Amino acid sequence: MRVILLGPPGAGKGTQSQRLVEKHGIVQLSTGDMLRAAIKAGTPVGLKARDIMARGDLVPDDVVVGIISDRLKEPGAEPGFVLDGFPRTVKQAEALDQLLDKRGLSLDGVVELKVDEGILLNRIEKRLSDMRARGEAPRADDNPQSFKTRLGAYRKQTAPLIDYYREKGALKTVDGMAGVDEVSRAIDEALPVDNSARPAQDVGQATM
Ligand code: AMP
Repeated sequence: MRVILLGPPGAGKGTQSQRLVEKHGIVQLSTGDMLRAAIKAGTPVGLKARDIMARGDLVPDDVVVGIISDRLKEPGAEPGFVLDGFPRTVKQAEALDQLLDKRGLSLDGVVELKVDEGILLNRIEKRLSDMRARGEAPRADDNPQSFKTRLGAYRKQTAPLIDYYREKGALKTVDGMAGVDEVSRAIDEALPVDNSARPAQDVGQATM
C-alpha cells in the first residue's frame, strides 16, 4: 500500500498515518519528522531548515526531495508507505512521480483530509497543551504566528496538489472533521482493498 495523506496543518495527517502504519504494516514517511530529526542532530540539512521551519515557511523543494529519495533507497519501505507532509508543492509531486516511475512503483491513492480552517487553530492549541501536559517541549512552529504562515503556505503552495491528483484520477476526499475512528474508517473505504495485509493462508484459499 502506497498512500499520500494531504491536508492543512492540524488536519490529523500524523494520527491517521499512524493508523495506516498499524493496519497495513507499512512505514510512515513524514518529511516534517525527518527534518526535525535533522535539526536535532545538527546536520547541514537541519541547519538549513531550522529557521525556515520555525517561521512556518516551506523548506526548499530540492532539500525535501533529496530526503525522500534517500529514504526510498533504504530498506524498510518495500511493504509500502504513507507519505505524511510530502509532497507539498507541485514540483515535489512531479519529482515523486519520477522517483516512483524509476522503481516501477505507483500510488494506491491520495487522500485529502478536508477540514474547516476555523477549527485548525483550536487543534494546534490543543496539541500544544497536550504536549505540555506530557512534559514534552512544544514544536517551534506550533504558535499562532507560525501557524498562520503554515496555513498560508498550504493554501498557496500545497492546495494546488488537490487538482494535480484529481486530474490523475488518484484523489479521494475524506471529511476530516469527523472523530478519529470515523476518519480512519472513511480512509479505509477510500483506499483499495489491501490483499497483502491478509494472512498468507487466506490468499491461498482465495486463489483456489
Ligand atoms: P509537518 O511536520 O509536516 O507539519 O512539517 C513541519 C514543517 O517542516 C513545515 O511547516 C515545513 O517548514 C517543513 N516541511 C515538512 N515537509 C515539507 C515539505 N514536503 N516541503 C517543504 N517543507 C516541509
